[in-house]
Amino acid sequence: MEQILELKHIHFAYHNMDGETPALTDISFAMKEGEFVAIVGPSGCGKSTLLSIIAGLLEPEKGLIRINGKFLRESTTNIGYMLQHDQLFEWRTIYNNVILGLEVQHMLTARTREKAHELLDTYGLKQFKNAKPSELSGGMRQRAALVRTLVLEPEVLLLDEPFSALDYQTRLTVGDDIGQIIRREKKTAILVTHDLSEAVSLADRVIILTKRPATIQQTLPLIFDLEQDTPLNRRNAPEFKTYFNLIWKELNTDD
Ligand code: ADP
Repeated sequence: MEQILELKHIHFAYHNMDGETPALTDISFAMKEGEFVAIVGPSGCGKSTLLSIIAGLLEPEKGLIRINGKFLRESTTNIGYMLQHDQLFEWRTIYNNVILGLEVQHMLTARTREKAHELLDTYGLKQFKNAKPSELSGGMRQRAALVRTLVLEPEVLLLDEPFSALDYQTRLTVGDDIGQIIRREKKTAILVTHDLSEAVSLADRVIILTKRPATIQQTLPLIFDLEQDTPLNRRNAPEFKTYFNLIWKELNTDD
């Protein structure tokens, strides 16, 4: 597998009228193509800040990011971003929401329209193409938001707590469902979550951050002895509890 993303010695602080808020200290890690990494850490430690830096929305104070071998600023690699709220527009149909990014980026062609239809069909939204977002369940809305991201053919997907607005039951099924779609589409993905069971059921590797300013406390590869490595099978596997407890312990050590 090719290395797609590389972060080296990233530092970042927010500056405002009240002074400086250091958010990230010396973050370095790399990802291979198709890898799924979960980032966990105490609330307010700097997880979203880190995603914003990878998305190019914030500039690190020190350090470098390479994506497909090029510096982030020079890179043409498409990065997809999925947030906690699906941000579907109620006045647009599901299909028109899905093609919104294509429209904005002047990428709406016969081929990309076709791709939008294909993805909606594949992921169970065929009958809802002309529905308004309010007619869909929370899970389906999240699927539609994912399709809207996937149709732009991102090479790297950034997921910032994308399931946390859903109730517990829905979060479980939607998290597993979306995780499987991302695997099927062979996307490189970074998931920020406060839900340890979500991280353990979905990721190849978990990066545990310290409290703010965040630095990497530990990186834990997740290896499951399963014939079919699905989120649901992971949740029922003996390794699940071991990994969950390991991460829990790491997050609750005070040094
Ligand atoms: P997390 O995603 O881990 O909860 P964030 O990355 O959102 O944490 O925030 C990290 C820290 O930076 C928090 O203490 C937060 O209050 C602070 N912060 C976030 N955005 C800003 C901002 N625009 N200005 C100043 N401080 C900020």
